[in-house]
Amino acid sequence: MKKVIAAFGVLLLAMLVFFFVFALQQMPSQNNHSSASGRETEKEPQRNIYNINLEYDGLNHIKAEMDFTYVNNAGKSMSELYFHLYPNIFRDRNHLPFSRSDQTLVFPDGFSTGGIDITQALQDGSPVEWTTVNGDEILKLALKKPVEAGKSSKIHFKFSLTVPKANYRFGYRVFGKDRITLSLGNWYPLLVKYDNGKWSLDKHPAMGDPTYSDISDYTVSFTVPQDFTVAASGVMNKKTISHGKAIYVYSMENIRDFAAAISNNYKTAEDFVDGIKIISYFHPEDRKGGFMALDVVKHALSIYNASFGKYPYPELRVAEANFYAGGMEFPTFIMMNTGRYRESNLSSTSFERSMAHEVAHQWWYCLVGNDQINEPWLDEGLAEFSTLYYFEKRYRSAGKESYFTRYVNTNTNLIKQSKRKMQDPVKLFRDNREYFAIVYVKGALFYEELKNTIGEEKLLDFLRTYLNTYKYKNVSLNEFIDLLKQRNYDGVNQDFFKKWF
Ligand SMILES: [Zn+2]
Repeated sequence: MKKVIAAFGVLLLAMLVFFFVFALQQMPSQNNHSSASGRETEKEPQRNIYNINLEYDGLNHIKAEMDFTYVNNAGKSMSELYFHLYPNIFRDRNHLPFSRSDQTLVFPDGFSTGGIDITQALQDGSPVEWTTVNGDEILKLALKKPVEAGKSSKIHFKFSLTVPKANYRFGYRVFGKDRITLSLGNWYPLLVKYDNGKWSLDKHPAMGDPTYSDISDYTVSFTVPQDFTVAASGVMNKKTISHGKAIYVYSMENIRDFAAAISNNYKTAEDFVDGIKIISYFHPEDRKGGFMALDVVKHALSIYNASFGKYPYPELRVAEANFYAGGMEFPTFIMMNTGRYRESNLSSTSFERSMAHEVAHQWWYCLVGNDQINEPWLDEGLAEFSTLYYFEKRYRSAGKESYFTRYVNTNTNLIKQSKRKMQDPVKLFRDNREYFAIVYVKGALFYEELKNTIGEEKLLDFLRTYLNTYKYKNVSLNEFIDLLKQRNYDGVNQDFFKKWF
């Protein structure tokens, strides 16, 4: 009997070992992006992958290496690739896209140069030729081996950044004795969007936002002086400190851009809503604003989750940074200008409007993408309507009235007088005031009228359908109009479309 039990025991042990080994083989690898040495036949990735390692010197210089996996979803063989080099708008005064009046806001201490220098480009390990076009704002890579449709290729860039002393998405500010905040937006070579058989080679616009990109996966490792804190897109996977340096690793799948803010003067506060972690980064002297940011983001996420469909990422960060225009949306990350944190009475101020607006962009721009240069209304109009909706849901009729008093009534004349349509490209607008009145405020009024015509429930149902149809994709104005027409809502007829478009 003992022998039988022993034999049975051995068999059981063998089975356990077998199942353990089998289970190990089935487990997804921790990082399936770095499978270059792949044991089995390597599967082509679904989307582009950006892996960036950078080192920051503590003032305004960054050295970086980027491993980019290009996935050819264009449906044809590609023999060249294009990348945005946004930082080069700061090369010299002639490159600046801003109007003269904006230049004084961007450079309160006078003009400061910046830019990106590419020092190496490799394709699958071999050097490739590159040139810059469009006034150094676009990098053209002539591939040695064309990438066939459905296949991928690994591109490696070595580059350095000079960050200008500027109140901008890409800029730094020095304050106090030795305090620094660095805004790191639009900073790395971002693949140009290939659309309808052509590359969208638009330059950085003077107003509005520049990004038009595909959903990708990102991992970015920041090496910074030990006393600096990094707030970035994605989730922080790792923070280590050694030899006077801190290393932060952030990553996230399914986002269309990646930004950060770095400072030696950050405090943080955290909160949760609907299982999403919110982290606010602020200067200790602006503590009140830092907590206000947390409060607005929390309420906005809650309202938008319930109305549009749930924010799919585990975390959202908001950082006090430098950007003269106010707030700036990036995927899972919001940059907000220092000035906004210092408004005397924070509630019902432009701080709250900006914050609710940038949170709305997590849906409209981040999840549902669009060409922000040529069809900016698609994300801005809906983000602004979402802002109005936030005020209405949070503060009832008083909130809605206050929004109308501050933003609609003050722009009514300008909307009437302007010849611009809300769906016009950024470059046709005269200045920021006209752009805001037509694209944002009139854009919000379009949705307000749609809501009054079809009812709130149907509008939310339409927005959820819109989100589900174009989530992680890009939408065009025609696709938006087609989707709305297909719903055949009472009152949304030819006259309605003629009035608004
Ligand atoms: Zn916006």
